[in-house]
Amino acid sequence: MNWMEKELELLAEDSLERFLRDSAPVPECPGYTVRGERLLLNLASNDYLGLAQHPAIIETMREMLLTEGGGSGASRLVTGNRPPYGRLEEALATWQNSEAALVFANGYMANSGVIRALMGRGDVVFSDQFNHASIVDGIVLSRAEHARYRHNDKDHLKLLMNKHRDKRRKLIVTDAIFSMDGDQARLRELVELKCEYGAMLMVDEAHSGGIYGERGEGLCYELGLHNEVDIHMGTFSKSFGVYGAYVCGSRNLIRWLINKARPLIYSTALPPSLVAGVSTALDLVKVDYWRRERLFSASRLFRSSLCEAGFNVINGDSPIVPVIIGENEKTLRFSHALEGEGIAAVAIRPPTVPEGTARIRFSLSAAHTDKELIDAAALIRKIGLQLGVLSA
Ligand code: PMP
Repeated sequence: MNWMEKELELLAEDSLERFLRDSAPVPECPGYTVRGERLLLNLASNDYLGLAQHPAIIETMREMLLTEGGGSGASRLVTGNRPPYGRLEEALATWQNSEAALVFANGYMANSGVIRALMGRGDVVFSDQFNHASIVDGIVLSRAEHARYRHNDKDHLKLLMNKHRDKRRKLIVTDAIFSMDGDQARLRELVELKCEYGAMLMVDEAHSGGIYGERGEGLCYELGLHNEVDIHMGTFSKSFGVYGAYVCGSRNLIRWLINKARPLIYSTALPPSLVAGVSTALDLVKVDYWRRERLFSASRLFRSSLCEAGFNVINGDSPIVPVIIGENEKTLRFSHALEGEGIAAVAIRPPTVPEGTARIRFSLSAAHTDKELIDAAALIRKIGLQLGVLSA
């Protein structure tokens, strides 16, 4: 295994080695995290609506833990399909105005499992170059051709769709909000192309579910495109503050997935207490409109403060606010300096993002106050000047 040490040294030299570090929640301050002894403003979490510490979710999970026990004990197709699953799936289908819904253990398994279940040799998947890794892995597993189109580039996608006109099945798949860029997919254009070429369309609402739409249904809903999308996927690990994922669509789609999606068939069902907690989170997501309003007002304030300071911020209108630094080492230093000033913010480097576009990915929460964000922006500006990312 000597090769491993050498490869790890190379990663470290390029400032690309990753480390696991402890972060503890602060129940009374949901916008913060504790690292070591230090309290940090948490600008690195996907708990967008500030629900992760919500007492109603915790109480549901606690009660269900006492009656249903720790684990589900088997796959959903064996004896792991406990009552909270059916209740959640019914509520999800109604919320998404879909015929049916299916819960997966997490977003990674949902994306990889669904794509592999739908596609195979002789098929083609058109996928935005910035789509999440779980989509990419699903395409690789499916053995379908991977037609990767330039980010949000309709002309390039059309070119590829013409090239693959004769393939058996075609699927266009996209993140609704791109996880490392925070910008929106051009869903209207994708719907047009899907109709023109007879393709299926799958949208990953991991970073838009709970945030867009009147009841948090997601970006497809907000744009009035819900009925044009064949496969809706979203996670419960971000806005919902819990864990797990869903797929919504036609009754046949769900029947197909129950029979073909390997992560659902060959993996143990989520603990029932967790599934019940997601149902409570869904009830909150639907009605707590103020959390969405607060999140957008916080995100816009923070984004405009960083733009005014002169940072290279990727355009968008979402709670993901990425500041491009470029070099890996400098990005890492930026993130360490932020931590020194009491801010948790993560340095995103290749291969997660393209070479030369390393960035600090700030993510906002409804739990943050304007004052916290204005103070944080001032500290970020100070560090930007110190590190030469900004010029005076
Ligand atoms: N899709 C996207 C766009 C994501 O950002 C993520 C998580 N980072 C996932 C899917 C995977 O979701 P989960 O964390 O629930 O596995």
